[in-house]
Amino acid sequence: MACTTLNTGMSSVLAWLAVILCLTVYCVGSSPPNFILLFADDLGFGDLGCFGHPTSVTQHLDKLAAGGLRFTDFYVTSPGCSPSRASLLTGRYQTRSGIFPGVLSPGSRGGLPLNETTIAEVLKPLGYNTAMMGKWHLGVGLNGTYLPTRQGFDSYLGIPYSHDQGPCHNLTCFPPDVKCFGFCDRGVVTVPLIHNENIVQQPVDFLNLETAYSKFASKFIRNSVQKGQPFFLYYPSHHTHYPQFAGPRAAGKSRRGPFGDALMELDLTVGEILHTLKETGVLNNTLIFFTADNGPELLRMSRGGNAGPMKCGKATTYEGGIREPAIAYWHGRISPGVTHELASSLDILPTFAMLAGAPPPKVTLDGVDMSKILFQQGPSKRESMFFYPLDPSEKIGVYALRMGKYKAHYYTRGSIKSSTTPDQDCHETAPQKQHDPPLLFDLEADPSENYSLSPQEHPEVAIVLKHMQHLRDDFQASMVFGESQGGRGTDPALEPCCNPSCTPKPDCCTC
Ligand code: MG
Repeated sequence: MACTTLNTGMSSVLAWLAVILCLTVYCVGSSPPNFILLFADDLGFGDLGCFGHPTSVTQHLDKLAAGGLRFTDFYVTSPGCSPSRASLLTGRYQTRSGIFPGVLSPGSRGGLPLNETTIAEVLKPLGYNTAMMGKWHLGVGLNGTYLPTRQGFDSYLGIPYSHDQGPCHNLTCFPPDVKCFGFCDRGVVTVPLIHNENIVQQPVDFLNLETAYSKFASKFIRNSVQKGQPFFLYYPSHHTHYPQFAGPRAAGKSRRGPFGDALMELDLTVGEILHTLKETGVLNNTLIFFTADNGPELLRMSRGGNAGPMKCGKATTYEGGIREPAIAYWHGRISPGVTHELASSLDILPTFAMLAGAPPPKVTLDGVDMSKILFQQGPSKRESMFFYPLDPSEKIGVYALRMGKYKAHYYTRGSIKSSTTPDQDCHETAPQKQHDPPLLFDLEADPSENYSLSPQEHPEVAIVLKHMQHLRDDFQASMVFGESQGGRGTDPALEPCCNPSCTPKPDCCTC
């Protein structure tokens, strides 16, 4: 009798557990997914442990890779910060939004035009809570015209541009035993920390910056979950851009020196975000995507990142400048594995939109939905990628084109950002050179772009190049260049200053 009662009691408990479980599964399955977009800075194809670096400490990113999908053929649209970020957030080549030439400055008049639709703006109408922390680099403008809070983000904590775009004295000389290395920008304001649209610190305390980001992320996720809102967190990190810094948890802790310490600090934040997702019970309903804006700044030598087997690095359209490590992780939804499908930062907006059930923006999108790759349901919809230099022009057009396994270089040029390695093609001394016929590489057989295919030995070359030429012609005919935002110039009065009426600037902008 006692046994029967116990069994009955157990059965009803189990039944209730099942009901709760079903409800939970139903709720999880029916609520829109959360998105966390992690974007490292000047990080090369070979910099993560899970992409083969022997001494990087990236245990949390490595776990995401082991439990998620690792991309081998993932591209950004530009080998430089601002244009790559514009494409990531809009799903459009930077030539359309006008984020060229080069990168934006603290006093730039221009920024990502407000009529561009960002991922945050795609998700907002569905009730998403949206936040960003870290490096914006898509303009500040008069009274914060171009800050993230004007582009769909409910809240923001971060430095609105690169952290070397300020005097060096407050950047790299800590801890005291870490020496400054090279130069940062002079004659501009010290680097500010902005919360929403207000400067809360100037200069930034780099020693505690990553901890502040980690707390911001945790609070944002917890608040969203408490309110029952789906969320989108965009974290473009300052790591691992030069000059590298790290707080006490990572400084001096990696085998790899300052670059390794910076990367380790970023990885710790990834670990803390994962911990918060688990604690709040939303890990199973959150897609985490990691990649980086452009390849390594080889100019900085051992502090400049590593492109692995890829040729050259930052500011070039060789593979080292534009092919990036990428990881998609969604516990219980994305199966662990590796994909060799062609994919791009352009594809993130359409993919997030599709997964959230949001209509894509009514503009010319260059990105395609890559959810079939994520869930291993089929091949990539992406057939090609076009690459412009940092100073694109309609007259020259695209420098390079990837189609399937082939890549054609119509133009090549080295850069000071990729000087210092033995390969002279990467250097500043390698001027713009037109290739007619184009240099053609089989990137599956030769990812390092060492051996261009000769028509004599490879009869398919002529047919491939003809097909690529059609693609290039069609693409260029459809490309409408936006107004150059870099071309609008700079105004020192626009540099963020915590004490706007002080003199003499920029030195007095300290609070
Ligand atoms: Mg960068």
